[in-house]
Amino acid sequence: MNPSRRPLIAGNWKMFNGGRAGVELAEACVAFARDLPGVDVVIAPPYTALAAVADTIDGSPVALAAQNLYPKDQGPFTGEISGPMLEECGCTWVIVGHSERRQIFGETDAFVAEKTSAALAHDLLPIVCVGETLQQREAGETLRVVKQQIDAFLDVIARTPKAVAIAYEPVWAIGTGKTAGPTEAEEVHAAIRSWLEKKDADLAKRTRILYGGSVKADNAAALLACPNVDGALVGGASLDAGSFGAIARAARRPS
Ligand code: PEP
Repeated sequence: MNPSRRPLIAGNWKMFNGGRAGVELAEACVAFARDLPGVDVVIAPPYTALAAVADTIDGSPVALAAQNLYPKDQGPFTGEISGPMLEECGCTWVIVGHSERRQIFGETDAFVAEKTSAALAHDLLPIVCVGETLQQREAGETLRVVKQQIDAFLDVIARTPKAVAIAYEPVWAIGTGKTAGPTEAEEVHAAIRSWLEKKDADLAKRTRILYGGSVKADNAAALLACPNVDGALVGGASLDAGSFGAIARAARRPS
């Protein structure tokens, strides 16, 4: 692993813990993150908890992410939240193109690229999600599908020196308890690294590629030991500070 790619463990709380429970979970994350100076810990609460969680983690090593953004600064977009609003709430990261947004809300590759660009324009580092469905995997189309998703935003991330993160999240592994094995995950992560390298050697060096899909305390170490797995995007297990902390501890590198 390149030493500049510090392990990054991000928790996607989805539509859970929007109020007081979010603050309590954030407090517990701060407590374990203080003992993990070599690991970047990011939490992504729902919008309604962002401001309160920002206060809770202020001055701690935990960083705040939003789960989504709209790619315009302001305007008549009822129900949407913009990059400047997220920045004002204390976010430094934003998840973009999660498969639930692609599948349930019909987000296209082009829209995901637009959101990636908007995030970068506003000092929000995007965690851009890609991944194939079970049907696509079974048809042997995994690498083609993931490459197509990445090609849509490759120019956007190559024109900035900022270090974005890409999360490879096979759709069939999200919330299902099924995980890609380390060999399956590493195959896709290595392919992603090679596409970045082809575009720009420094882009490949600075981009962290996270694995996501039913990461738990008991499978994290094997996945995180893969040479091209730089961290994890964790859904269900991030709702429990004990499990999330154990995953973050598994990401520690020997000093
Ligand atoms: C996710 O929501 O990004 C995710 C990976 O969920 P889970 O860990 O629950 O599969």
